[in-house]
Amino acid sequence: MALEIEQFLCLSDNFGVLVHVPETGATAAIDAPDAAPILAVLREKNWRLTDVLVTHHHVDHTQGILGLKAAFPHARVIGPAKEAVKIGTLDQTVKEGDTVSIGGHAAKVLEVPGHTLGHVAYWFERDGILFAGDTLFALGCGRGFEAPAEVLYHSLMKLVALPATTTIYCGHEYTLSNARFARSVDPTNEALKKREAEVAALRADGRFTLPTRMDLELATNPFLRANDSAVQANLGMAGSDPAKVFTELRERKNRA
Ligand code: ZN
Ligand code: FE
Repeated sequence: MALEIEQFLCLSDNFGVLVHVPETGATAAIDAPDAAPILAVLREKNWRLTDVLVTHHHVDHTQGILGLKAAFPHARVIGPAKEAVKIGTLDQTVKEGDTVSIGGHAAKVLEVPGHTLGHVAYWFERDGILFAGDTLFALGCGRGFEAPAEVLYHSLMKLVALPATTTIYCGHEYTLSNARFARSVDPTNEALKKREAEVAALRADGRFTLPTRMDLELATNPFLRANDSAVQANLGMAGSDPAKVFTELRERKNRA
């Protein structure tokens, strides 16, 4: 049976996401940006929280954990072993290659360092869904706060190897500002032009631009296109090592 997924805003631009398994009643929160809106959706749907899947230690992904635990003391909080000390409230730690089961649906743990050193993504392989946290965004990627840009690039290449039809949920609604930067470095990309218009229309309507899909990101996200000849030529880096092109893209975006 298919997962039921609710996505909603928390704080200013973080996504709260709830993953519900109808046949077993399990419900997982992906990260915990803020307990109140997550609890409100649980109440509205009449779902019981059983798990929290934490992607990384940043406060805007973890500060709601205690509030969720207060309301659902039996919920199991799962997160990266490498950030267990920083997060401090994990019941179970995971590392590369581990599988966690949410009400009978398996999620593979992918270590994707870069934004933070211990960042993990959760891939529900059979459901075709990836929860990428702050590693990959629609038309963008996270900042490399804790590692050189090359480390983040290799993590993104690991995600790119997933099936092209993978549905991707991300930590933030950043797509419109990402689209402007993407166009500045990939101005001749027709698929990108079309998508920028679609994204602008969705946001003008107050709608979300997420989830996205891997094939759409491959065609339009400049951070996944560091090997593309047009992107390289536009940066004056024709024929360069894609990791170096990515580093240049990430530095330009940091300054933008
Ligand atoms: Zn973050
Ligand atoms: Fe974040």
